[in-house]
Amino acid sequence: MDLLTSVSDLRMIGPVYAKRLKKLGIESLRDLIYHFPFRYDDFSLISEISRVQPGEVLTIKGRVLSIKNEYTKAGKRIQKAVVSDGTGKIEIVWFNQPFLVKTIKAGEWYAFAGKIDWFGKKIVMVFPEHESLKERTIHTSRLVPIYPETYGISSKWLRSRIASLLNENLLDIKDFLPEGIKDKDKMISLKEALSWIHFPDNKEQIAAARKRLAFDEFFLIQLAALKRKEEWQKRPLSYKLLLHREKIIEFVKKLPFSLTNAQKRVLREILSDLTKDKPMNRLLEGDVGSGKTIVAAVAIYAVYLNGFQSILMAPTEILASQHFQTLKQFLSPFGLKIVLLTGNLKPPKDNQEKIDVYVGTHALIQRKVEFARAALVVIDEQHRFGVEQRAALIKKNTNPHVLTMTATPIPRTIALTLYGDLDLSFLDEMPPGRQRVKTWVVPKIKRGAAYRWIRERIKGEKEQCFIVCPLIEESETLKSIKAVTTEFDRLSKEIFPDLRLGLLHGKLKSKEKEEIINQFRRGELDILVSTPVIEVGVDIPQATIMMIEDADRFGLAQLHQLRGRVGRGEKQSFCLLFTELNGGKAIERLRAMEKMCVGAELAELDLKIRGPGEIYGTAQHGFPRLKIASFTDLELIQKTRQAANGLIGSLSKFPLLRQELESYTIKQIVPD
Ligand code: ADP
Ligand code: MG
Repeated sequence: MDLLTSVSDLRMIGPVYAKRLKKLGIESLRDLIYHFPFRYDDFSLISEISRVQPGEVLTIKGRVLSIKNEYTKAGKRIQKAVVSDGTGKIEIVWFNQPFLVKTIKAGEWYAFAGKIDWFGKKIVMVFPEHESLKERTIHTSRLVPIYPETYGISSKWLRSRIASLLNENLLDIKDFLPEGIKDKDKMISLKEALSWIHFPDNKEQIAAARKRLAFDEFFLIQLAALKRKEEWQKRPLSYKLLLHREKIIEFVKKLPFSLTNAQKRVLREILSDLTKDKPMNRLLEGDVGSGKTIVAAVAIYAVYLNGFQSILMAPTEILASQHFQTLKQFLSPFGLKIVLLTGNLKPPKDNQEKIDVYVGTHALIQRKVEFARAALVVIDEQHRFGVEQRAALIKKNTNPHVLTMTATPIPRTIALTLYGDLDLSFLDEMPPGRQRVKTWVVPKIKRGAAYRWIRERIKGEKEQCFIVCPLIEESETLKSIKAVTTEFDRLSKEIFPDLRLGLLHGKLKSKEKEEIINQFRRGELDILVSTPVIEVGVDIPQATIMMIEDADRFGLAQLHQLRGRVGRGEKQSFCLLFTELNGGKAIERLRAMEKMCVGAELAELDLKIRGPGEIYGTAQHGFPRLKIASFTDLELIQKTRQAANGLIGSLSKFPLLRQELESYTIKQIVPD
């Protein structure tokens, strides 16, 4: 058996268990062995029965003298056993586990692990784990691993299966990490790490195992990225480009505005890539409105000056046609022929070679267009940052430069780790003249004053306001809907009875949603009360106030994206972050919103303060879920990057590592 063997090949695992295991993401033996405990029960104290004290958590070993079911006065069934180890006797009590009187046999020796407590006037052991002393103990007498469970799969069950895999040496675990790397950091072998993470003798073994397994996680992610980079760069470039510097400067000069310093810096990075003899693969990250499109337009112009085509892909038809308009405005005066491809607009049959720029959704472009002279592909707003698109391009045997653009605030550290195959550019500066959204944290005591201020703005300045309530649970459940509905009632009746309020949440039918948004857009509502669903897609330029309830429950990046819903028009906009707190760390964190206005920087800060899970639904962005390592561990990220960089050139010398990398990569690209 090896790690890729299916779990259903194991003894005692039939189709029913295989199905349950799948719910935990466990299909192969590898998945099972890499299903790590999230904590341990410490039953390592083994005591003589005569010495146990109420309150202690420990293991006793003794012979069962008797065991029986009893009924309480309330009609509940309890099980009672008496156990002796020669030093003394103790009673053991369970609730509602009648089957125990059959599995635990009087006269035999067992270990029991659990809490010693009072039961009436008696000292007893309550609700313990038990196991026979005929075999090595795994459920008692030690640090006992507790796992993520699912219906029908308990930690005890997992423990037994994993222990038998590890003990019987069924499994051929080969260590893929080169000795040099292991020695340098004094890391233990993979076999030890996997054995110790499940069944440690002490806390030091847990630490050593976690150190090794965390290293593996980041090391493989980065090595895989470097390998993708190497493969991408190995391919011969479709076309060699020259930089027509004078003409580009002229083009930039004729723009109706001057570029920000950030735009200039990013353009230098991109233009320099375009003239190299390796294909570019760059990720441009910048908030909504930071001016990414014009950066792409200049790059497209630079390609046009060489006589080649560019392609711009957008995720939706609406975005594609917006880009089409923008590019036409900037590029047509310079003679570029631009074509929009959507569901209804087919590419022209003839004269394809006369077209300089194709704009469209990626699906269309993947199918219909000959990439005969495409030297640059720009991908806008893709969550998976172009991985699939690049794969499609390679299939078409073209190898253009690729620029991917995103407004998702990914902290630099995460971007550098996960997208090690991409070069990164950040637009961390807004075009001038854009008003910053004035942001205040409003503690509990100032709530009344803030409501009065909002009423004045609405009555006096005819402004419009969003009020966002947080999701109470992970997704928009009934509980959250109820909370936002209650708040809506309270606001309409008690706080703003004289104003027009609307309610928006994810459980409304899309028709209803549209109608409410349109009412708000037409100015027939003053205030829109909403769950964070408005984070995506709602664009209402005349709304100027964003008020967020329980702001401390949100990540800074998410607050920043919500704040981006206002400040889209001419008027000064405001963001009020309400919190029930009156001070402390959480308020300090929110205060960053008053000073900072770049999404990636806020995300980075939040990563430091709260850790990665909190930034945003990371799974939604196709980030791998780390099992042990943490994105806040900068030292480990750096260390593993160095190790990966040092090794990528000689990967062929390490066949085990190459093999691991392959199976790892396959797992990565299979969509969840
Ligand atoms: P993004 O795609 O990054 O969200 P856009 O490229 O759509 O942003 O730009 C937003 C708006 O800002 C557009 O109307 C664009 O013309 C304008 N703009 C871009 N760069 C500048 C600049 N340097 N100065 C003034 N306005 C700019
Ligand atoms: Mg854009």
